[in-house]
Amino acid sequence: MLNNLKPQAPDKILALMGQFRADPRADKIDLGVGVYKDATGLTPVMRAVKAAEKQLWEAETTKTYTALAGEPAYHAAMAGMILGAGYPADRVAALATVGGTGAIRQALELIRMANPDATIWVSDPTWPNHLTILAYLGMKTRLYRYFDADTRGVNFAGMMDDLKEVKAGDVVLLHGCCHNPTGANLNLTEWAAVADLLERSGAMPLIDLAYQGFGDGLDADAAGTRLIAARLPQVLIAASCSKNFGIYRERTGILLALAPDTATRDLAQGTMAYLNRQNYSFAPDHGARLVTMILTDASLRKEWETELEQVRLSMLGLREQLASELRALAGSDRFGFIAQHRGMFSRLGASPEQVERLRAEHGIYMVGDSRLNIAGLNATTVPILARAIIDCGI
Ligand code: PMP
Repeated sequence: MLNNLKPQAPDKILALMGQFRADPRADKIDLGVGVYKDATGLTPVMRAVKAAEKQLWEAETTKTYTALAGEPAYHAAMAGMILGAGYPADRVAALATVGGTGAIRQALELIRMANPDATIWVSDPTWPNHLTILAYLGMKTRLYRYFDADTRGVNFAGMMDDLKEVKAGDVVLLHGCCHNPTGANLNLTEWAAVADLLERSGAMPLIDLAYQGFGDGLDADAAGTRLIAARLPQVLIAASCSKNFGIYRERTGILLALAPDTATRDLAQGTMAYLNRQNYSFAPDHGARLVTMILTDASLRKEWETELEQVRLSMLGLREQLASELRALAGSDRFGFIAQHRGMFSRLGASPEQVERLRAEHGIYMVGDSRLNIAGLNATTVPILARAIIDCGI
């Protein structure tokens, strides 16, 4: 039996992590895996999370099962954070999931149950897991142009041109903010044009919101999602708490389904709970409970928002520092896009050979498509990276 299995391609980013660990150079720099790191290279437990954990440890009297779809208080707190206060609760079905990945997986399974023929449109490029999960589920997938290799911004004309072929019953997967892997994002005018296109075509948006608070702020990062939610009758949103609460290993995420009426919402809610039951029964509760406590307690929330803002501003500062070092070294503004991009990642636009040279000659690790994790830098390593980028002819 087991000998019939075919070897699976290893995850490229995880393989890079292993290669980095094995590199004996003391001055090596890890810009690979998508984890926030502070200036000392640590991924700290956020202060509000520690405080909530302490409170929870003292107050928790049972660890019996929760509700299959997760706790209503978690649903409400997350829907409020994502959709804004005063969101239309009567339209929203919600499901606690195993991280943001679990939310995407459940969303795709839900779509497959509703319309097995749906084509899922994904940005070129996108987070590789989108593509591997879609292939694993055997769903039809098409790419739409997204990244402009010259400007390193969004090729919006190309995107809209490709999306002209979207049909009723298809699904368009959009990154809510902080696009992974490029760092290039839609502005609100572009979001509105996407909403027009979705309205016209009768396709449904699936928004992957994994970095709310990492780009322009908690509300600004959700603005595109909120615009879509206000305009379209049916919307799926897969959100992750891994990054903005720093609780990666707690596996905390949520799937929201916005329906046009309560009967459809109830149908979606029942199907979503069913999907949890079939795949893993209950989603982990610890992280979801911490998130609920933080979002609903004024002082914990203030502490969390303050720290999240520090995290966001530190990444913005590093972006500006890197762009200005490169401006000085290159004698041009051709790396200005680094300061325009938002979130943890930027796609540098280097060739695979140049990425390999950065690794071999400078001990600088980034993903092969030249995605770099800005949070892997600090004030000391920024100039080192800038010189290496110029040295490798990027
Ligand atoms: N979507 C995107 C675009 C991501 O980058 C990530 C994390 N790398 C996720 C979803 C899911 O994250 P998690 O499952 O760790 O919550």
